[in-house]
Amino acid sequence: MSERSDTDDIVDAGFDEWLDAAETGDAYYLECANGHGSLPPRRVCPDCGATDLEEVALPKPGEIETFTITHVPTPAFEDDAPYATAIANFGPVRITGQVVGIDPEAVETGLEVELEITVSETTGERVIGFQTA
Ligand SMILES: [Zn+2]
Repeated sequence: MSERSDTDDIVDAGFDEWLDAAETGDAYYLECANGHGSLPPRRVCPDCGATDLEEVALPKPGEIETFTITHVPTPAFEDDAPYATAIANFGPVRITGQVVGIDPEAVETGLEVELEITVSETTGERVIGFQTA
């Protein structure tokens, strides 16, 4: 555990790198030898502890598995409400993101979506979004 700080740096870089890839349509997931899927910044398979993870192209589209609609957001997101936050199933992995470009009333379980990395106007940070496939 003496390399903790180095590992933390790599972990952060891993997620930024993943967002870069997702932004250009090259999203991927990490697969261990047993076929378990996970997403960066994981460096260890959450299912079996394997450390030999391989980058595999993310299947698309994904399918909305569950979602919640936020009608009363925090003041910082006032202008965005109502909006839907969904968990989409991409096969080996599930990804949580904000549904963008779709009327929240039209969001439903089973809807096919693709990743759409967006920038939060409030924080300026990139966030994972979904749009219809
Ligand atoms: Zn595994």
